[in-house]
Amino acid sequence: MKRVLREAHAHIFQLGRSLSMLELGGCGSAEQMLDAIADRAKTLGEDEWLLAQGARPQGWDNPSWPGRAQLDQAGGGRPVVAWCFDYHAMVASSSALTHARIDASTTIESGVVELDEAGEPSGLLLEHAALRMWNSVPEPDDAQRRELVLAACRHLIGLGFSEVHDLKAQPWLGTVLSELLAAGEIDMRFELFPLVPDLKASIEAQRAGFDERVRIAGGKCFVDGTLNSRTAWMLHPYADGRPEHPSGVAMMTTKQIDNALLACKEHGLPLASHAIGDAAVRAVLDAIERNGCERTRCRIEHAELIDAADLRRFVELGVIASLQPCHLLADMEALRRAVPDRLDRVLPIRSLLKSGLAPGVDLLFGSDVPIVRADAEDSIQAAIHRRRAGMSESESINPGEAIDEETAWACFAPGSES
Ligand SMILES: [Zn+2]
Repeated sequence: MKRVLREAHAHIFQLGRSLSMLELGGCGSAEQMLDAIADRAKTLGEDEWLLAQGARPQGWDNPSWPGRAQLDQAGGGRPVVAWCFDYHAMVASSSALTHARIDASTTIESGVVELDEAGEPSGLLLEHAALRMWNSVPEPDDAQRRELVLAACRHLIGLGFSEVHDLKAQPWLGTVLSELLAAGEIDMRFELFPLVPDLKASIEAQRAGFDERVRIAGGKCFVDGTLNSRTAWMLHPYADGRPEHPSGVAMMTTKQIDNALLACKEHGLPLASHAIGDAAVRAVLDAIERNGCERTRCRIEHAELIDAADLRRFVELGVIASLQPCHLLADMEALRRAVPDRLDRVLPIRSLLKSGLAPGVDLLFGSDVPIVRADAEDSIQAAIHRRRAGMSESESINPGEAIDEETAWACFAPGSES
């Protein structure tokens, strides 16, 4: 029997973009990477950008990135940017660097422009320097956008999803999805959560006419950072935190969370808050209580750590827990280093269900694709085994919070109300 699934946390346009990029994960050397780039370049228009991702030089016998001159040659002089698999580094060709106005004299806070022996950029960019480059890549035009969104939807349909929630929906996304639905190119349901500042424009677009299978379902905000950068906001310091923010980073003040809630409420909509650390989760629950937003179907996205004192508050305040258990598979080592004393607080799925949340109704599973792949099997594996396939039971993270397979699939079941 083929299951019908809901992906409760996706980024549709970014997925389409990442599907369209040259994948370098299979390359075992700089030479192979350059060959792959040269092959792709042949399929592109003269000045068309060549975007690639997934390179893993760390796994090569010679772990050096190809240089800028090699990229220029392989790419036929066109702008080329190629991400490392972890999105913290990239290499860029000469014309790409020129386009981004990055040269030997460029300094970028929290970023590195590596120089070669001649004192010129080698092509390798780290952290914020890589981001500067990426942000200067031209945005796809309307026709390309439509194709990227369509490719993403087809990819998700192929994985069994009939309903998708986009948790940072661009104001134009609902219109493009509606066109694809009306043209009969796809048939699925969408709930869109634009960033709170984009809500107004998104609702105006909806008023202009969406397909009945698309709706603006709430606003989105970011209350903290991420676990891997130790910026998820925790109640207790990390075991290996950064001196400048030992317990992570609160990216919003109490007042700002209140305002985000109220801005959504004004439109009769709930707020979906990115909150990974237990302090961020508590701050959101507090705000929902303080502002009388109980039972408005506000959502907390991620909630990787939840303090015991806050467990019952989800059901008491009518808050939806939108979880991505699949991240546990990638984060196991990071969690052991970061919160070794509080692994029992990591993704307490069983306790949340026991407190009264119903799978597929107010406890939802998703993936955060394209940060990780959207395959539901990954979250099922994490939810029932709490470890990667092939690992021994003793390596599981917080195994007391494991749930059975049927319940795990139920967290992917599309809602009856939609
Ligand atoms: Zn996300």
